[in-house]
Amino acid sequence: MQRASPETATDHCSACGTEQRLDVSIAILTESPDEANAAFSREPYRIVECRSCGETSKTRMNDA
Ligand SMILES: [Zn+2]
Repeated sequence: MQRASPETATDHCSACGTEQRLDVSIAILTESPDEANAAFSREPYRIVECRSCGETSKTRMNDA
């Protein structure tokens, strides 16, 4: 998977329950690679990883 160099942000981490330093990056993830329409299943995700606890959340960018 392609992953740009992460940016750092400060935001609330639901796992920590407090504000933490977070790494924010964008990655193209392939969904359902076994399906025939795999060409349409590569979606950009915004990935946020807590530097404190390692909690990672993915948000699909096309769901705006
Ligand atoms: Zn955390």
